[in-house]
Amino acid sequence: MALQMFGIPVSRGVAVGRAVLISSARLDVAHYFVDPGQEEAEVNRLRAARSAVRAELQTLQAELPPDAPPELAAFMDVHMMLLDDPQIGRETAGWIRRRRYNAEWALTAQLDVIARSFDDMDDSYLRERKADVEQVVERLLRALQGTQGLTGGVHGGDDLVLVAHDIAPADMMQFKQGVFRGFVTDIGGKTSHTAIVARSLDIPAVVGAREASRLIRQDDWVIIDGDNGLLIVDPSPAIVDDYRVRKQESELSRQRLLRLRNTPARTLDGQTIELLANIELPDDCDTALVAGAGGIGLFRTEFLFMNRSRDLPGEDEQFEAYRRVLQSMGGKPVTIRTIDIGADKPLDADLDYRDGEFTHLNPALGLRAIRYSLSDPAMFRVQLRALLRAAAFGPLRILVPMLAHARELRQTLEQLELARAELRAAGVEAGPVELGVMIEVPGAVLMLPLFLRYFDFISVGTNDLVQYTLAIDRADESVAELYDPLHPAVLQLLAQTISLSHAAHGWKGRPVHVSVCGEMAGDPQLTRLLLGLGLRSFSMHPAQILRVKQEVLRADCSRLAPLAQAVLAELEPEGQARALAALAG
Ligand code: PEP
Ligand code: MG
Repeated sequence: MALQMFGIPVSRGVAVGRAVLISSARLDVAHYFVDPGQEEAEVNRLRAARSAVRAELQTLQAELPPDAPPELAAFMDVHMMLLDDPQIGRETAGWIRRRRYNAEWALTAQLDVIARSFDDMDDSYLRERKADVEQVVERLLRALQGTQGLTGGVHGGDDLVLVAHDIAPADMMQFKQGVFRGFVTDIGGKTSHTAIVARSLDIPAVVGAREASRLIRQDDWVIIDGDNGLLIVDPSPAIVDDYRVRKQESELSRQRLLRLRNTPARTLDGQTIELLANIELPDDCDTALVAGAGGIGLFRTEFLFMNRSRDLPGEDEQFEAYRRVLQSMGGKPVTIRTIDIGADKPLDADLDYRDGEFTHLNPALGLRAIRYSLSDPAMFRVQLRALLRAAAFGPLRILVPMLAHARELRQTLEQLELARAELRAAGVEAGPVELGVMIEVPGAVLMLPLFLRYFDFISVGTNDLVQYTLAIDRADESVAELYDPLHPAVLQLLAQTISLSHAAHGWKGRPVHVSVCGEMAGDPQLTRLLLGLGLRSFSMHPAQILRVKQEVLRADCSRLAPLAQAVLAELEPEGQARALAALAG
């Protein structure tokens, strides 16, 4: 009987594949397939690492001072025995030969198998030996680090899906190369950054599946139904066939949507709607262009800063990345957000986040986004100078995340001026930029009369606006039920932001451009509501653009406006559901 589990659907589509279980702590090792025919060479690489570790342990043992406690020598004996154990040697080689996993991946896969068998033991002494196996594997991984694997083979076998307790956003980025066909995690919410990156990969994903990584075993066949948040483990052949048909159908409808790529995004009553892309890395511009994006509405630059230990990108490297985006977009507007580090997006070297746990009590309310940047003005200006230099290569809008205080506004403007002065003093060319603010906390909505006087544009980060308005951690599956973008309070704040921006006579004496760049903008079920509230600019993952465009093409804003007002007026769920049904009809 197939096992079924439910989680939170975060990225659409169906994946059918064999489970690869990876413990969160080991996600940072390389995952790739070795080229066919190179399996034995990779096994030899593993063998060499084992010899190196054996020599290392022997040296350590030989150099023990005479008065060292005898347990230390015994401890090294245990590690040497484990190194020679077939569970580590032969079985790990098995993963390389059968699956063509690189040695590091094979080791962590095998460690997972061993760890589970230890967890099942009754004897507490033996159970504790798990730590020894982990230490030996750790040494092996270090020994492999210096040696180059035979990279990049294309996998010819079964499709694979990744199952983990949690995946940090920084680790998720490493899977952009496409080894896996789908993702499952035990924890996380719909707008957690891990979910956002999974969605940007356009691969079926389910988060918050609670027990998944405990109940699914290495190599189990798993169906991930990303539309319904359903996982089926060990499905019968009939169910697999059924899902394969569904997969083909969703592929076909995707192909059909591509026909809309060059169709202007105009509503039935002639309103032109701006459909922009959210990206994480410069390379994502290609996907944005293929989807027909009118520009970049949000480049989350913090992803440039991840996976680099303490070696943060310098001014030149950042400048190159920003210039690449502007040049790739060929004159279309590009909005680049200054780093939004913190909360569920730590730098991987940050001591804030260890083994899936934050060490700060309330990271979402702590030092994140603009607060982080202003806490280190020299680092902030490196980014601002890189941005100002890149602005010479195309229309650039700089976006500031999570600003709420007048003081932060003033400090940000000062830092921007200072960065410009530094470039001028060095004789380096800078281009013109527009400056915008993200509306992500309810306090910022109430500060709009001030912000609209200083900023050129507004971008609503609904992911955080929902989180902070309703006091619900967006990354916590245990309160995911309460995370509601349609909550009347959220809709009121959103509507107010749109109408105040349109009514404003910003410092340039004209209405202030307003866009939504949170996940709400990419949800086709919300397009009509947002259009009805007056929104004319949407920024989303490239994969969503054509679905949203389809809704735009069928919409009549003049008809939707009063219907959206009716939704706003409803504070009770039943009334709101009725008003939403009228809007959808
Ligand atoms: C948001 O909060 O809606 C947003 C777009 O920013 P992020 O998801 O990166 O926090
Ligand atoms: Mg945000």
